[in-house]
Formats: sequence, C-alpha cells, structure tokens
Amino acid sequence: MSEELYPSRIELSKSAFKKNISFLKDYIGKDVIFSSVIKGNAYGHGIGHFVPMAEECGIRHFSVFSSDEARQAVRASSHDDTHVMIMGMINEGALGWAIERDVSFFVFELDRLKCAVKEAKRIGKPARIHLHLETGMNRLGLEESEFEEAVEIIKGNDRHLNLDGLCTHFAGAESVGNYVRIQEQIERFEEYSSWFESQGIKAKSRHTACSASALNYPETIMDMVRFGIAQYGFWPNRETYMNFVKKYPEINKEHKDPLERVLSWKSHVMSTKKVPAGEFVGYGNTYLTSRDEIIASVPIGYSHGFGRNLTNVGIVLINGKRAPVAGLVNMNLLTVDVTDIPDVEIGDEVVIIGKQGEQQITVASFSEMRNNLNYEVLVQIPAGLPRSIV
Ligand SMILES: *Cc1c(COP(=O)(O)O)cnc(C)c1O
Repeated sequence: MSEELYPSRIELSKSAFKKNISFLKDYIGKDVIFSSVIKGNAYGHGIGHFVPMAEECGIRHFSVFSSDEARQAVRASSHDDTHVMIMGMINEGALGWAIERDVSFFVFELDRLKCAVKEAKRIGKPARIHLHLETGMNRLGLEESEFEEAVEIIKGNDRHLNLDGLCTHFAGAESVGNYVRIQEQIERFEEYSSWFESQGIKAKSRHTACSASALNYPETIMDMVRFGIAQYGFWPNRETYMNFVKKYPEINKEHKDPLERVLSWKSHVMSTKKVPAGEFVGYGNTYLTSRDEIIASVPIGYSHGFGRNLTNVGIVLINGKRAPVAGLVNMNLLTVDVTDIPDVEIGDEVVIIGKQGEQQITVASFSEMRNNLNYEVLVQIPAGLPRSIV
C-alpha cells in the first residue's frame, strides 16, 4: 500500500461515523436538519476525505468557518443537493463566489448585509443569508440596536436576499456552570425571533445548537443542529455525557457509549535495538535503561504533532500492548520501550490514537497526557498526513 511510504497516516472509520449520525439523528428527530461542522479541517479529520464519506452516509449540509474552507468543501463534494454554510470569515472577493455557488453565510455586521445586497445585485442572484443575532456570547452577532436597520435593508431588497436562517451560538453549553447564561441566551433568542416575525421577517429556519447545547438543552434543537465534535465520536466533555446518560437511561441500557471515534492515527515500527541496562536512550540523559531493554523507533515526532511534552510520558500501542515512550520525542522520531511486548518487528503497526486489539488510546487520554482539549488535539493533527477511509 502506498500509505506505507508515509511515516504515519490517518484512518477514518465510516462505520463509526454512520453509528454516530444515526444516534444523533434519532435524538434530534427526522425533521431537523443535520449540519456537519467541518471547520478546522473537519476537526483534523481532513475536509477532502471527510466530506465525501459524510455524503455517502447521507449528509447534505456542511458548516465551515471561512470561505476558503467553503471552497474546499465544495471541491470535495460530489452531490448537487449538498449545501455549504459559512459561519465566520469571508475573504475579500469571496462573497460573490459564495452567492454564485449557492453557499449561504452568517451575517453579523450591517456592513456585510450591505455588501451582500451589492454583490447579489451585481451577480443577478439572491444571497442566502443567516442573521446571526447577539444573544450574550459577545463575540460575533448583530446587536439589538442594529435590528431595525437590518429589517429595513432586508425588506427593501427582498429580491436580492433570501433569509435562510436566524441563528445564534451559545457560550459554553457543555458546563452546568454556564446554565444561567445559556438560559438567558435562549430567552433572548426567542424574544428576538418573535420580534423579527412581528416585523414581517420570516426566516426559513432557526438554528442555535452545537453538540453540547443540543445534548444538554433539547429546546435549542429547533430546525437544524450544527454538530461538530459529537459527529466525530466525542462528547463535548465528560459532564455532558454523564448528564445525558442520567437523563436518557434507556439510551445507555447497554452501558456502552453510543458514540464511536471516527479517527485513528497509525504508524509503524521503523527499527528495533537491544540496549543494555544503565544506558541513556536518545538525546541527552532524560531516559536511562533500568534493565536490558528493547527499544523500538517510530517515525513520528513533534513535527507531526506528537508533542515533545510526551517525552517519557506518552504511550503508543504495538501488537495490542501499551508501549511507553522512552526518551525525548524528536522532530521526526520517537523511541518506545517494547521489552515486555514479545516479537516486535520492523513494520509492525503502531497506534498513536485509536484501537488495537483490546487496547485503545483515546484522544482524551492522549490529551490528558498533554493537558489539552479534544478539540485542540484533533485540529493539530497535520493536514499533510495521508488519509484513508476504512
Ligand atoms: C464550532 C461551531 C459549532 C460546532 O460546535 P461543536 O461543539 O463542535 O458541536 C456550531 N456552531 C458554531 C457557530 C461553531 O462555531
């Protein structure tokens, strides 16, 4: 296989993804649109591979952060009925492209609304917009004081604007500590959307939910959920999982996590070596053999995202067993102690993240070793690694 030529590779499990979306779709109901959030290179999974796989599983709505990600998504898509929605940044000149390609986008500034009208007129095709309302996150969103002008612009340009959605985003729906703030945001959103309706502005949909808010606050599901982390097989945090299991005991009858990780990260053994007791391994003196040891080299290092802070701390899987990192993580290479794993040979599979036999390295355990969030670890997986669907 050509992938063997690369130091390491990413595998995406289609069956895990199918399982996740079937669970999430059952939960939100069949009339609710499932939008697959693929910002951050599809949370490190790779837009180019993830989009076609998701389309094969029936997904037809994707949310991206920026216009360049939207271009990648459009390029990767092979279904005419797939829709791409930009939630954030649009590069100069890309607004026209978005309108031409039927890509919808969030409007959180009056200026963007005016530009959308201008571009739509120039192109002769309406822009598909979502009014992103400020409800309390205080990051992006139209302010209440701007609503009247927005309504005027929308009414005066109804041939040039299609109002696809009214939307907002919650400030930390994964933690009960933010309960009051989220509740206020939900109330404000309801109040604002009634106001828009009273002004004769009716949006095609209302959407507010990300994974955590859909799972913790079902009232936020509305017409569409923008699922990021959960579709990749991760709970936004442990609290959300515990909360969910408590609320819906029937879902967890089997005491098994209904979500399954889509991504695995694999490499292979490049070389093995016997090192006598009392020798240092690798650069410097961070690792001293305490017995006669067998050390295996794996062609992955901090240049591939395997952090230097995993020195003497990280763990990989070889032949279904856990192999601890022994010595400094190098730029392109790490060394692991395989003394207790019988018959390790050159070419044996090494799992960095994922399952092997009975063992599993979760992103969470990988990130606990690194003290990072799932989100942060995932997006740091290099885009350049080869990817395949399994
Ligand atoms: C990232 C993002 C989401 C998805 O969040 P998850 O926690 O990964 O589900 C939804 N909406 C917006 C606006 C986002 O930026």
